[in-house]
Amino acid sequence: MSFAVSFAEAIGAGAVFIGAHSQDYSGYPDCRKELLSAFSKVIKTGTKSGVQGREIKVYAPLLSKGKSEIIKLGIKLGVPFALTWSCYKGGSKPCGRCDSCRFRSMGFAKTGIPDPAKKAALEIDYHAR
Ligand SMILES: [Zn+2]
Repeated sequence: MSFAVSFAEAIGAGAVFIGAHSQDYSGYPDCRKELLSAFSKVIKTGTKSGVQGREIKVYAPLLSKGKSEIIKLGIKLGVPFALTWSCYKGGSKPCGRCDSCRFRSMGFAKTGIPDPAKKAALEIDYHAR
């Protein structure tokens, strides 16, 4: 968020967006509304834009949605899910075991739609042989 706000201020943007959502609340305090509200206060008091009245807003449009709702919305919007993942391992394919991968997998399972990133990861493995 600090990098995003710094970049936003440098380019004169009026907002930053974060993909935090409700399912992450339990184990990740930085995905709570309270943190985002506190961060907004920091932006207002700790940036030149903020003190000059050009506040950079923080938007978390997915905050109240669960993974399956987000996936359904993404499908509706045409998100290329085969090209997306947010694995905490940071590799060239999803690990399938970290919290992020597991939550995503559960979200896809709940929608009844296979996760295209898993298929893409299997294809990467196959071509690497
Ligand atoms: Zn992972």
